Amino acid sequence: MNNNLIVRIGATALSLLLAPQTHAQFGAEPAELELIQVRDDIYVISNVAVPGTVTALITDSGVLLVDDKFEIDHDNIMKLLRTVTSQPVKYVINTHYHGDHSGGNAKLQALNAVAVATEQARATMIASNQPGLPDFTLSDRAALYIGGKAVELYRVSAAHTNGDLVVLFPEHRVIATGDIFANGPGTSAQLVDYSGGGSAKEWPKAVEAALALDFDTVIPGHGLVSTRADLEAYHERTLRFSAVLSELVRQGKSRAEIEAVVRADFDWEDFHIQSALDGLINEFR
Ligand SMILES: [Zn+2]
Repeated sequence: MNNNLIVRIGATALSLLLAPQTHAQFGAEPAELELIQVRDDIYVISNVAVPGTVTALITDSGVLLVDDKFEIDHDNIMKLLRTVTSQPVKYVINTHYHGDHSGGNAKLQALNAVAVATEQARATMIASNQPGLPDFTLSDRAALYIGGKAVELYRVSAAHTNGDLVVLFPEHRVIATGDIFANGPGTSAQLVDYSGGGSAKEWPKAVEAALALDFDTVIPGHGLVSTRADLEAYHERTLRFSAVLSELVRQGKSRAEIEAVVRADFDWEDFHIQSALDGLINEFR
């Protein structure tokens, strides 16, 4: 792997894939960010301690972002972008509705950027009173063209939420997956946002839809810039997760017994247990 693909992760990397109710604690302070070059004209802006990603496609006709972190991170994101381009941000694509992926929308819209998300993500943002509602939605797929470069958007099956989308940069053979894939210390637990329509059972299909695209580099929603092989391994893990959960529920295991397994074998921590264990057991019942 190219050196510039390696993301430094703090030893204290936190548990990620945050549901909105926990955003306050993580979005209260601006994160320390860094810029990682993935292609000549594609960069990732990533947190050191809470490594959620922003992807930036730079063109002569403007910048396209995938995700924009919390509102409080906006100024630092723009500062890093300004080190590589003076072009305005024309589009921001939200991979899903969570505030650590869509929180910068309002500030970018004030700079005349167009925010794009799935219909489901927009509906959930309305229901949860989030600012910066998307200006443009898609139900299945869409393509954008900026500065002569193509950007393809694919809504996938319910996984992390019911409105997840994957972005393909076809000429670059790069995808940005949002939180249907996370890869790196403290980020790998599969967090299903049940109140946002997520599904552990459907999750493997979402990853399969991503794997059906033509790419070699993967920018996950949180964590390290990755390869197709990393995403394939993650797909196996989502299948194993479903199989293990099905079996535990079929055997009538207690909540505590299931908790012990997801902690030991699937990296779940307190946050995941509190926000998603009951939903997970219900889904497989
Ligand atoms: Zn998320």
